[in-house]
Amino acid sequence: MKKIAVIGGGIAGLTAAYLLGQRYEITLFERSERLGGNAYTLTTPGGEEVDIAAAVFGRHSYKNLCRLFKRLHIDTVGSFDWNPFSPSLGASFRSLDDGSGFFLSPGIASLISQRFAPLRPRNVRTLLQLLKGLKRARSLSAAGKMEGLSLGEALKEVPELSGDAKLIFVSCLCLISSMHCEDVLDAPAAFFLEKLKIYHDLVPPEALFSVFFPRNRTKEYIDALSAGFADSIVLNARVRKVIRRENDVIVVTEDGKQALFDRVVFGCNADQALTLLEKPTIEEKRLLGAWKYTDGRIVVHNDHASFPKRELMQGYTFLYRKSGRYIETSVSGSLWVLPGASKSMDLVSTQHPNFPIRQETILFDGKFRTPIFDFGSCSMIGELPSLNGVRNTYYCGSHFGFGLHEDAVTSAIEVAKQLGVEF
Ligand SMILES: Cc1cc2nc3c(=O)[nH]c(=O)nc-3n(C[C@H](O)[C@H](O)[C@H](O)COP(=O)(O)OP(=O)(O)OC[C@H]3O[C@@H](n4cnc5c(N)ncnc54)[C@H](O)[C@@H]3O)c2cc1C
Repeated sequence: MKKIAVIGGGIAGLTAAYLLGQRYEITLFERSERLGGNAYTLTTPGGEEVDIAAAVFGRHSYKNLCRLFKRLHIDTVGSFDWNPFSPSLGASFRSLDDGSGFFLSPGIASLISQRFAPLRPRNVRTLLQLLKGLKRARSLSAAGKMEGLSLGEALKEVPELSGDAKLIFVSCLCLISSMHCEDVLDAPAAFFLEKLKIYHDLVPPEALFSVFFPRNRTKEYIDALSAGFADSIVLNARVRKVIRRENDVIVVTEDGKQALFDRVVFGCNADQALTLLEKPTIEEKRLLGAWKYTDGRIVVHNDHASFPKRELMQGYTFLYRKSGRYIETSVSGSLWVLPGASKSMDLVSTQHPNFPIRQETILFDGKFRTPIFDFGSCSMIGELPSLNGVRNTYYCGSHFGFGLHEDAVTSAIEVAKQLGVEF
C-alpha cells in the first residue's frame, strides 16, 4: 500500500496529510483556491497579514496542537499583557437597541474610559452570578441532571444564569461554537458543559494566562504542514465521486479523470464527504447524514459606527439585540489585538453581522462553514471513529469533537495512527 488521497485541506486534512506523508505518497484535493479551510490569513491592501478566523488557542486544552506546533517550530505568543497600560484580550457586550454596554477589557485605559464601570456593584454582582451559575450548571451536569435538556431548558434550572449573566454566557458560547444563539439554546446542554470542562482554559479567568496566538499568523503552520507534499496538492479540485473497491479507491473529478489510490481520507465536512461517496454504507449514511452546517458570513471592515470606542473593544465585541428568549448577536474580533498588528490597524472581523456596514469600508466578505451541534449530530460524535478503516476509507475533522482546532488535529492523529504512523 502506497498512495493515499486526502480530500479537504483544512487543519484536519492537512494534519493527516502531513503525518501520513512520512510513509505514503499523498495527493491532497482542496475544493477552494487556498489551503487552511477555517484558518485564514488575509493580506490587507497595505500588505499587512491578519488572521480573520481561527487564531485563538489554549495552552492546556490544545495539547496535540501544541505538540504539532513544537514539531513544526511554530512560535506562539500569549494574549495577556502584564503591563496594565497595555490592553489585553477582553470581551465587550453592547446593546444595539439602547447602546448600553458591559465592557470587560483588562487594562487601565479601558477602566478609565468607562469610569471604572466594571467595578460598580451591579456589574460585580453580574460577574459573581455568572461564576456561581457556571459552578451550579457544572455540578448539575456531573450529577446527570442536564441529560436530555437543551441549553435553553437547562438555563431555567440555573437561576443565576439570567439577565446580563445569561447574555454573557450565551454570547461566549456563540463565540466558541460559531453557532447562532437559537442553535446554541436548542443544543444539548451537556455538550456545551462538557466543552467548557475540556476547554476550561478558554474561559476567564484562566483564559487570561492560557490563550495564545501563533506569532506569525495561521498561515505559517498551514505552509509548514503542506511543505512536504506541495507538489501534489490539487487546488480548485472538483471531485465528483469516490468509488471504493475491495483493495483500492478511485477519485473521479468533474472533468471525468480518474485517479487510483490505496486509501482515502476525508478531511472535509461530514455532509460533503457523504455526497462524494458512491454507495455509502448504512453506517456512513447514519453517522455522516446527521450533520448540518452553518454558512457563517464573515465581514472584515473598518466601519466603527455601531461599536463602542476603541479602548472598549480590545478583543471580542458582541453587538446584540434581545428578541424574546433569544439574543441575536454578532461577534467581532478587533484585529489590532493580534500579534504584530500595526498601530494604525483599525480592521474588525465580524461574524454573523446584525448591523449596517458601509460597503466602502468592507475589505473582505465571505462565508465560513461550521458544524451545528444539535441533539442529532451530538449523539453521533462518539461513533464517528467506527467508520475508520471500513472500505479503505478514513475520516477526520473538528466534528469529531467540539468543533475546534484541537479536535480536528486529534482526529487526524487518530487516522494516521490507524494507518501505521505514530505522532
Ligand atoms: C470565524 C471562525 C473563527 C474560529 N476561530 C477558532 C479559534 O480561534 N480556535 C479554534 O480552535 N477554532 C476556531 N474555529 C473553528 C474552526 O472551524 C476549527 O478549529 C477548524 O479550523 C476546522 O477545521 P476542519 O479541517 O475540520 O474543517 P474546515 O476548516 O472546514 O476544512 C474543510 C476543508 O475541506 C474543503 N472541502 C470541502 N468539500 C470539499 C471537496 N468536495 N473536495 C475537496 N475539498 C473540500 C473545504 O474547502 C475546506 O478547506 C473558528 C471557526 C470560524 C468560522
